[in-house]
Amino acid sequence: MRDILPPDSARWRRFQSVFAGVVESAGYGEIMPPLMEDLGVFQRIGDATDVVTKEMYDFDDKGGRHVALRPEQTASVCRAYAQHRPATPWKVFYAGPNFRYEKPQRGRYRQFDQVGIEVLGADDPYLDVEVISLGWEFYEKLGLERVQLLLNSLGEPEDRARYVDALEIYFRANLDGLTEQSRITLDKNPLRVLDSKREFDAELIAYAPRIAEFYSPDAAAHFDAVQQGLDDLAIPYTIDTKLVRGLDYYRHTTFEFVGLTLDSAQNALGGGGRYDGLVESLGGPPTPGIGFALGLDRTLLACDDEGVFAAPNTDVDVFVVDSTGGRQALRITAELRNAGLVCDRAFENRSMKSQMKAADRSGAAVAIIIGSNELDAGTVVVRPLRGAVDVNKQREVPRRDLISAVTKAVLLAVKEATA
Ligand code: AMP
Repeated sequence: MRDILPPDSARWRRFQSVFAGVVESAGYGEIMPPLMEDLGVFQRIGDATDVVTKEMYDFDDKGGRHVALRPEQTASVCRAYAQHRPATPWKVFYAGPNFRYEKPQRGRYRQFDQVGIEVLGADDPYLDVEVISLGWEFYEKLGLERVQLLLNSLGEPEDRARYVDALEIYFRANLDGLTEQSRITLDKNPLRVLDSKREFDAELIAYAPRIAEFYSPDAAAHFDAVQQGLDDLAIPYTIDTKLVRGLDYYRHTTFEFVGLTLDSAQNALGGGGRYDGLVESLGGPPTPGIGFALGLDRTLLACDDEGVFAAPNTDVDVFVVDSTGGRQALRITAELRNAGLVCDRAFENRSMKSQMKAADRSGAAVAIIIGSNELDAGTVVVRPLRGAVDVNKQREVPRRDLISAVTKAVLLAVKEATA
């Protein structure tokens, strides 16, 4: 688990606010589920996933309740829906940390942030398209271009059940071609064997039966509509029949966003799909759901690779240098901040030289200097710090003209710096 320090933290916050902007424009409202819930909430996700069986931070609290830090947020959203019974379709988004006891490495941490959306209570292929398109739009807003959308359908639960049977028969007949780990997975959930990225499994998986052969007419129609909708929005996608996503609740559409600049073991930026039964298992009515979760860390790594979405500039506009004891700086910074300027100052009555150094370090466009002469004369000195700095360009202005003089000087300095 890491500390996120400035200026990275500002980048994280902007990431979340860009995401919020994209999904709020489509009518999604933010849900803030608790960081910790009853263990049972997360166990509903299914016992065939490492997330549930191995990676949860769970413990007994002081009241003897068995609780866990959330490893993801879909289960919490479904629990909240079952509990509060909002009107449908319920369109929500979330942003925040999850916890998984994984082996930390680049792009994989024990506390990691996700942003995501879920829609509960509507089973319409055009909703699938809306959800996918919002993920796509978000990547576009970040400036990412090397993102691939993988798409698949798992069909209806019965289609999927027949497919799982066929897969199991196929894999059992060819056990020699599977790694030990995949054989264990096969016992739990044959579908998840397709998730294996181990080279030894690759050949057998390549020739495995394909889900498309098992679609019912309804499932095929749903999938066709999703593809047509994506075509209508000019969103490119690649059908990947191996994309099954681990969870038992998934049906119909599944998708994944792949970062093409990232190492293949760690290149899933995010993914999601349609699911059924999760709300029901948490005490609600039968309710269809669809959503996705996108990992912040990996998406930012992809941004670094593509040289987009840099940390925002956190430089201040103005730095106040006060050699009369600091009280003038207190008043001046308050006035400037009130006027909407980003403003900092020095403390501890440092020397003029040391305060000017701090002003330079702050990245400020302009310094306001006040010494005893200025104090007596009721003036301040406005000195540009950026661009071709020329001491002759500094001006002494009446104290009452402070705001307008500073605003002008900041605008001028920014103009010069970008010219
Ligand atoms: P999942 O909830 O497992 O489907 O993961 C969705 C996305 O969250 C992944 O594509 C990653 O971008 C991100 N993610 C999952 N686990 C981690 C982790 N341990 N560290 C960082 N990002 C993660």
